[in-house]
Amino acid sequence: MAKGKIDHIGMWTWGGRVFNWKKYLDNMKAVGMDSVVLWHYNAPANAQEIAAYADNLGIEVIWGFNWSWNSPICLDSAEDAAKWRDIVLEIIETQYAPLNASAICFQTGGTEFGGSCRLDCEPCKQAAETGVGPLFVKFVTPIINAVQEAYPYLRIFANVHMGGMKESYQALSQLDRSVPIMWEDLPGPLKHIEIPFAYDWEPENKLQPSTIDMVERLCQLRGPDDEVAFILKGFPCHWGGDDPMLLEDFDLKALDAVYHDKWGEIAAHCEEHLGDVLKVFRTIADSPAKTKTVLLLVEHGLWEYRKYYAAVLITEALTNPHREPQQIIEAAKDRLKEDLLAIEK
Ligand SMILES: [Zn+2]
Repeated sequence: MAKGKIDHIGMWTWGGRVFNWKKYLDNMKAVGMDSVVLWHYNAPANAQEIAAYADNLGIEVIWGFNWSWNSPICLDSAEDAAKWRDIVLEIIETQYAPLNASAICFQTGGTEFGGSCRLDCEPCKQAAETGVGPLFVKFVTPIINAVQEAYPYLRIFANVHMGGMKESYQALSQLDRSVPIMWEDLPGPLKHIEIPFAYDWEPENKLQPSTIDMVERLCQLRGPDDEVAFILKGFPCHWGGDDPMLLEDFDLKALDAVYHDKWGEIAAHCEEHLGDVLKVFRTIADSPAKTKTVLLLVEHGLWEYRKYYAAVLITEALTNPHREPQQIIEAAKDRLKEDLLAIEK
């Protein structure tokens, strides 16, 4: 069988604490990344400038914004879905269409923390126990349809947390097939699944066969030509708020000293468990999905200041996971040689 590949590698960030956007994107480009999710409640004040800069580098910006995440809604209410459909259409029209955005991604109430219903209704109460999968599909489908009708060229990603889905994630097989599902917070409550660096992964845990099964299932939830994305959240990141993203003057060298140990610890885990990490990446690469995307969540991690080894190593592993760990470690270190000299000057 031909060895598969991961089509898109990139970053996912809330964006409120990225101090220098140009350098952040430059460093992404330098390691071969081609996609970035910028998550905001509203398009940042310098969105136009960021979009143009990313476009020049050949990096696609996927603009992430709220479709009722953390808002008082009822996922079972057609009225609430209609209200959010209008809000979403207005946000796209006023903020993202003027940027010539090619892709957006959304998060919806209930997927992260489970159901909390403004009407305290029975279906939502039940979903809090068993997972919000079916109600999620019911709520977002009319909004997706309306966006597709108004903006047929716009790709829409559904960014969902396993936390609120639980076993009901299988209901997402009913979600519009043209909307790639972007999985976050794996394994969440599914404790038999431990995906290295996905979230609260314990490094001493061994990779279980059930993890590989789960990754295979998520890669073809809607059949063999599905589109899937994974967010790896085990890197330094810190909620930076949803302030507009503007270049700020910060003493990055002082912050670098703070981050040095944290990144170093993760790098040690990455090297030690690279064999297991590669098994997961190979599973994604070799899956029958039509497109496969893997994004690293790095914000307030000073990626704009330094290409930290852990992120470079994981990116190198994603670029071609069919190599041996030692080859990947050497390739990652080679990439960094010039950088280390530049920073030390
Ligand atoms: Zn409800």
